[in-house]
Amino acid sequence: MLQQVIKQIEQRNRFLLTSHARPDGDAIGSALACCQILRAMGKQAQVVLRDGVPRIYQPLPFADQVVRADRVNGDYEAAIILECDSIQRTRLEGLENQFLISIDHHVSGKPFAHVNWIDPKAVATAEMVYRLAREAGVSISPEIATCLYTAVLTDTGSFMFEGTNEHTFGLARELVLAGADPSRCARNIYFAHSTAKMRLLGAALSNLHREGSLAWIWVTREQMERFDAKEEDCEGLVNYALSIQDVQVAIFFRELPDGRYRVSLRSKGEDNVAAVAEVFGGGGHACASGCSIDGPLTIAVARILAALRNQTSVQ
Ligand code: 5GP
Repeated sequence: MLQQVIKQIEQRNRFLLTSHARPDGDAIGSALACCQILRAMGKQAQVVLRDGVPRIYQPLPFADQVVRADRVNGDYEAAIILECDSIQRTRLEGLENQFLISIDHHVSGKPFAHVNWIDPKAVATAEMVYRLAREAGVSISPEIATCLYTAVLTDTGSFMFEGTNEHTFGLARELVLAGADPSRCARNIYFAHSTAKMRLLGAALSNLHREGSLAWIWVTREQMERFDAKEEDCEGLVNYALSIQDVQVAIFFRELPDGRYRVSLRSKGEDNVAAVAEVFGGGGHACASGCSIDGPLTIAVARILAALRNQTSVQ
């Protein structure tokens, strides 16, 4: 399939690259790296994201060139969609009329595009983008390496999640040799939180609930507004609940403006939380998944806990 992707790229000149709404490190790093790889292949390429680049990823090379838009504006010959299982995940309008190439590493990945390269064995979409560069004969510049390393670092939970193996470290080694600076990449991600995020963390932890091997926390609209917090300030909060001894699955609920809840699920490895997210129309990985669910909070919590008990061994 990689060959197919390269063939389709070679036949065209003008590309749009995009990823999912509320982009994480793999979405941003893969899109920025892929854009630079296409340009090195002599193509015109532009990253367009519905939600723009979250603050912690703004130091990445070429992040300032990302276009924030809610619809496709421009004359493109193909769109490369990274890390998505549908056009809808991008929340970008106008993609329906484009020739679509999908590159994704999710177990829940679906073949929605004209060319679909889905590899759930890849630890991050960035690993696939790296393979694309190698296969296309593009040398990995320090800028490409920095974007890919940041993507791998974040999507493996700093090399801690299940699936991290000798190949992951082999890839990290190649990226460091190509010019990624591990300490600087880590500093930009883990030591650059906003004050609002820290205040939100305090509020979320004061709502900590435990039941057997489950832990859950939440934040309300009112708290987000009071702390002047953005959606991106919620990223990673769920990991604090997961970090508790004997907790196997942690859940984070964020109240949305319409009263629904965004749910982030994380597992230490024994339980498949992608299966739980899929029950509610979401998806993701066995250890990290997400979905949206109707409120009120007590009902949302009860439904997620019931699905967890059904789909996993948690009690
Ligand atoms: P997060 O909890 O950080 O929002 O998402 C964790 C993982 O689940 C990410 O890999 C993300 O792409 C995936 N994910 C989150 N929400 C959804 C969703 O609504 N649908 C699908 N298919 N995947 C999701």
